[in-house]
Amino acid sequence: MLIIISATSGISISSFLWIRRKKKVLNNLERLIYIEKNEAFEAKNSKAKDIEDAFKELFKSRKIEMQRLQQLENYRRDYIGNVAHELKTPLFSIQGYIETILDDPKIDKETLELFLKKAYKNADRLGQIVNDLDTITKYESGFLQIETERFDILALVNEVIEELEIQAKEKNIQINCHSKSEPYWIEADKSRIRQVLVNLGYNSIKYGNQGGTTNIKLSSTGLKVIVEFADNGIGIPSQHLGRVFERFYRVDKHRNRETGGSGLGLSICKHIIEAHDETIRVMSTEGAGSVFTFTLPCA
Ligand code: ADP
Repeated sequence: MLIIISATSGISISSFLWIRRKKKVLNNLERLIYIEKNEAFEAKNSKAKDIEDAFKELFKSRKIEMQRLQQLENYRRDYIGNVAHELKTPLFSIQGYIETILDDPKIDKETLELFLKKAYKNADRLGQIVNDLDTITKYESGFLQIETERFDILALVNEVIEELEIQAKEKNIQINCHSKSEPYWIEADKSRIRQVLVNLGYNSIKYGNQGGTTNIKLSSTGLKVIVEFADNGIGIPSQHLGRVFERFYRVDKHRNRETGGSGLGLSICKHIIEAHDETIRVMSTEGAGSVFTFTLPCA
């Protein structure tokens, strides 16, 4: 009989100790969640189930946070790699030309002038790349805000066509604008839309054929104005179409080095149009030409 009593009380003491320890562990977990979440933890009577749920939630948000940090880290690494790569080409060219000039004190005037011009062209390109990088960094960090105003996009298109005339003439490319002759009033950030028009227009010349045509078409649905840039240039192979709006993406890396692109122009266009909650698309056939279309809200 005595043995039975002591055995029973032995069980109740150990289970009492177990419950106490469990409660202590739960309290500590509760405190931990509170600190981690930095907000009041709503556990009803510190039930194990509540704490388990809170922990699951905490782990889930930690996992998402870790993935985000990993993405940022990949982005940072890619970005720095790409920037270094972009800057290297013109920088090495400048160094090369200047070194050649310095190494040859008897260099003739004609060669000297040619090398200086080439060095200057590369310095100019370096400046362009730095400007594009500056713009894209601001967009990608959500730093740039758009400032909308009411303006006539037809007038802006005509201004941009005039601006591109010199480059177009060099390749004997004709730029036409097809639209009704009345204003197309839109509500958008004028200077940024100008940049989109310049980038698309300039690309249509860069990737256009000698003696080609760029047709800019404006139309309106009443709610949206649709702007279309169509060229009959070299076109984009279908496997690249889905990637041309990515930053630093180029279809033909060698060719574009020669034409002087940074691989950022279309990516900047996409940021600007999406900042207006609108879309930009491309259709293209290799060897036949490309059509870039975007929408903007009517004023
Ligand atoms: P880039 O500075 O190299 O021109 P973009 O971002 O403007 O960079 O364009 C990305 C790539 O898309 C270009 O390198 C080019 O291969 C292709 N591309 C852009 N516009 C056209 C076009 N109108 N015709 C053919 N290819 C184009």
